[in-house]
Amino acid sequence: LSVLPPFTVRTHRRRARRALVMTTDTTFRGHVYDDITQTFGNTPCIKLRRVVGDARAIVIGKLENFNPLWSVKDRIGVAMIDAAERAGKIKPETMIVEPTSGNTGIGLAFTCAARGYKLTVTMPESMSLERQRLLKALGAKLILTPRELGMKGAVSEAMKLYQEHGSEPHAFIPQQFKNPANPEIHRKTTAEEIWRATGGTIDILVCGVGTGGTITGCGEVLKSRKPSVKCVAVEPTQSPVLTQHIVQGVPRDQVKPLGPHKIQGIGAGFIPDVLNCAIIDEIVQVTDDEAFEMGRRLAKEEGMLCGISCGAAATAAVKLAHRPENAGKVIVVVLPDLGERYLSTALYPQE
Ligand code: PMP
Repeated sequence: LSVLPPFTVRTHRRRARRALVMTTDTTFRGHVYDDITQTFGNTPCIKLRRVVGDARAIVIGKLENFNPLWSVKDRIGVAMIDAAERAGKIKPETMIVEPTSGNTGIGLAFTCAARGYKLTVTMPESMSLERQRLLKALGAKLILTPRELGMKGAVSEAMKLYQEHGSEPHAFIPQQFKNPANPEIHRKTTAEEIWRATGGTIDILVCGVGTGGTITGCGEVLKSRKPSVKCVAVEPTQSPVLTQHIVQGVPRDQVKPLGPHKIQGIGAGFIPDVLNCAIIDEIVQVTDDEAFEMGRRLAKEEGMLCGISCGAAATAAVKLAHRPENAGKVIVVVLPDLGERYLSTALYPQE
């Protein structure tokens, strides 16, 4: 694909030529792989069109639902297990336990299934039924924690289990919020893919913040290549902890969410260790309603069946695209997961 410059495909003939290049391109999954864990990444970058309306910026979605278990967290699921294997921290009998809002658990679960490890996941009961069923289908043991305790409840339950099992070397807790392998895999893969796909033309990166791994890894690499790249963090209006810490100067251990929110996967309610706050240039807050509405529009108007946090990130990207100062700019928004994971939720009402 790199033989064709991006954004020049206008005429019908050119479009046909590009299609030919795509079908004969063997670098995109045109291999026999040893196992499924080798297949993450190289997700497509696709322009958002109708939801962007008459804005004069180019908005490109990076569709992370092209990963093997359909989310951005497949990347870190494999990366954290790879790093632990390299450090000699896990054996087949080791109890691996992780608190997660779901997608990291699923990323770890397919990796552990493919490599023969035992995984226990702790997750708030408010996370979607699909996540719960998928984790079990992949052979993980699932422990639900009280809704009102949010991610903090899942974290303390996982720590308790880890200690009860005698800590290392009998148990291993990847700790996605602290594990350097999390931002590192985004430096090595996601960031490079964005740089390559846009031919270095990216001006603005938009990411929701859960662990902060995606925005940190991508933001650091993109800014090091092109210092003018602006990194925009998206957080739920109900959990404005980044705004409290970065904009209002509240110490990181004193930030507080205003209440629960419905944007699964972002807005953990605290400032994660892996998040590099220094690379964030702007924070955009998005309400639950805005995220749900845009999630539905992405499916109906773009044919992109996306999750709730995709709706949140795309809301922010479209708002940025409409600012006069961003006319002509290239905005890349990371769209983390698949709408099918939310069929039972209010994202897709049944009527
Ligand atoms: N959206 C969803 C649905 C997620 O599961 C996650 C990861 N928890 C994110 C966004 C945020 O990604 P990160 O953890 O890299 O900040």
